[in-house]
Amino acid sequence: MINLILFGPPGSGKGTQAKQLESKYNLVHVSTGDLFRYEIGNKTPLGLKAKEYMNAGHLVPDEVTIGMLQNKVNANSDAKGFIFDGFPRTIPQCEALDSFLDTKDDQVNCLIALDVDEEEIVTRLLKRGESSGRPDDSNEEVIRNRIKVYKDETEVVYGYYDKKKLSSTVDGMGTIDEIFDRLSVAIDENV
Ligand code: ADP
Repeated sequence: MINLILFGPPGSGKGTQAKQLESKYNLVHVSTGDLFRYEIGNKTPLGLKAKEYMNAGHLVPDEVTIGMLQNKVNANSDAKGFIFDGFPRTIPQCEALDSFLDTKDDQVNCLIALDVDEEEIVTRLLKRGESSGRPDDSNEEVIRNRIKVYKDETEVVYGYYDKKKLSSTVDGMGTIDEIFDRLSVAIDENV
């Protein structure tokens, strides 16, 4: 199995790139943000729980997120591997992912981070908010808060996998195709 973590701040292009990488490498794309939005759209108990956190730009509590992620992986038992997008976002999520994969005799193969300037991120998210209908993209204060949460709680995830010699970074500025090519090179080198 190939288990790849696509990492980076909100708006760094993880979702866009993951969709293309999914078909190139024949992996299943797992976006916790998309999974939450699906639950919210269907007004499930999980969706109702997640909604307020998301709209304020906070993280959804780990136990909710981890359980949902495990269900998604278990529902795809015949997958060749996974691209994790937006997960793990905290150290407890890293530990939960590692021990969960361990129960399947599996592990994370690599983490690749997209490096993008902060002002570019704000511009991209506000632009996405014009058409996506995502409440967390329509308000600059919420966007700034998501970037702060990323720095305070999520950036450490890079170091967690770097200690295991699994982390690397690619330049996330440029066209979608340029970034896709850089990611493909990094994946081919690391998997
Ligand atoms: P972005 O990466 O652009 O912020 P996502 O769609 O990945 O967008 O996530 C949107 C929101 O969903 C986050 O701000 C957070 O509230 C919630 N979320 C997504 N993934 C996680 C996670 N792993 N842990 C906690 N909350 C999460």
